[in-house]
Amino acid sequence: MALQNVLDPASGEAIAQVPLSGAAAVDAAARAAAEAADEWADVPVMERARLMFRVQALLERDFEELSEIVVRENGKSLDEARGEVRRGIDVVEFAAGMPTLMMGGALEQVSRGVDTELFHHPLGVVAAITPFNFPAMVPLWTAPIAIAAGNSYILKPSPRTPMSAMRLAELFDEAGTPAGVFNVVHGGEEAVHAICDHEFIRAVSFVGSAPVAKAVYARSAAAGKRVQALAGAKNHIVVMPDADLDAAVPGVFSSAFANAGQRCLAGAVGVAVGAIADELSERLARMAREARVGPGLDPESTITPVTSDEARRRIAGYIELGEEEGAQILVDGRREDDGGFFLGPTILDQVRPEMRVAREEIFGPVLALERLESLDEALDAIAGNEFGNASAIFTRSGAVARAFRRKVTAGMVGINVPVPASMAFFPFAGWKGSFYGDLHATGMDGVRFFTETKVVTSRW
Ligand code: NAD
Repeated sequence: MALQNVLDPASGEAIAQVPLSGAAAVDAAARAAAEAADEWADVPVMERARLMFRVQALLERDFEELSEIVVRENGKSLDEARGEVRRGIDVVEFAAGMPTLMMGGALEQVSRGVDTELFHHPLGVVAAITPFNFPAMVPLWTAPIAIAAGNSYILKPSPRTPMSAMRLAELFDEAGTPAGVFNVVHGGEEAVHAICDHEFIRAVSFVGSAPVAKAVYARSAAAGKRVQALAGAKNHIVVMPDADLDAAVPGVFSSAFANAGQRCLAGAVGVAVGAIADELSERLARMAREARVGPGLDPESTITPVTSDEARRRIAGYIELGEEEGAQILVDGRREDDGGFFLGPTILDQVRPEMRVAREEIFGPVLALERLESLDEALDAIAGNEFGNASAIFTRSGAVARAFRRKVTAGMVGINVPVPASMAFFPFAGWKGSFYGDLHATGMDGVRFFTETKVVTSRW
């Protein structure tokens, strides 16, 4: 079986190897999961919830270690890694409430002498396919809910960041998860196709780029599976003329550049409405020029490396494209090769909504600044974009904020909050080209995604 190097983005050096498994490994995992599924579904729901309490305790025990693994394979800063592990633990804590979350309903006397009850059942074998950018958090969006609901689970992490997934599997194992209930398969396209096609797998949760999300959605659905496919993004942050710039400037900056812009919630487009544009762009440019580019384990670093040399070249290509399209490069993050996959923050000013740099997901430390005249123009720019994951506005006006909240075409919305991430107990996903499926990840949507209902009608 082919092996692929896992690279430390800060040095470009190999830190591990990952097998690129295919259909045989997926089949073995699906069989192991199917063998464990019935017995696991029979374990009382309180016991499955208690497993989550033990997983939570182990994640707290190894919090720093897991955060460091995330930094080493992903490149983000230690604080950002701690943040993602914390958000993952939130989901474990949410899933510990499974006895309440899975509670059904009953109605007496639906007809004379007839009662109806509704039960939530686990599906059996389910799978999750995850991206490189949140190697601990995204698997934890699904594993705790799927497993506490009584399913057997197969995780296929990104081959660029397989180490956090392995550590998570070890911790679930140490917490007492029965053999076959949490399985990991490594690999790329071939493993993903095998998951979409495998007859034992009832549901597929996918998080990744838009073209792959669309393909996984179509292929899994064609095989009769339930699918949720969270896809790419191009999130807009609107700064109104009355905004508090002391909050908006660092908000837009961190939204665009934290995790080197490799976040599905990254504010990749800043929209300056009216006369605020000059001051906003000047202050953002000053912050960008003062930013410290460096490895994630150095606490002084504000901009950390991107995931690969290929990503760095692709992002640099977008900066060139922006210039060709007529944008003005206010700050240029392109730099000499220095071992790791570093790029400084780039700000493209005078971007128009129709330019490719405003429309396409760049997934790097590049902020496109649009200068528009009104809230309506900003809402039109957002509505005209293929994606609709998240959007935010900075304003001091309640009426403007309310109009934005009602009209904006995005699944997650921030009001004076630059990264409007849904917490574990709410559903997480976007609109339009940012999501394929019906039920979103986490919250009650997550519970419904990993269970099916049975309605029983009885007469005695
Ligand atoms: P990716 O699409 O390259 O990979 C995601 C998963 O799909 C990985 O497990 C990968 O091995 C697999 N894969 C890759 N190419 C494939 C192919 N051709 N056929 C089948 N499977 C394939 O995404 P990535 O680069 O790891 O992650 C970044 C992307 O994920 C961005 O587009 C980002 O916006 C998106 N993302 C979205 C959300 C969200 O909530 N909407 C959250 C995180 C990341």
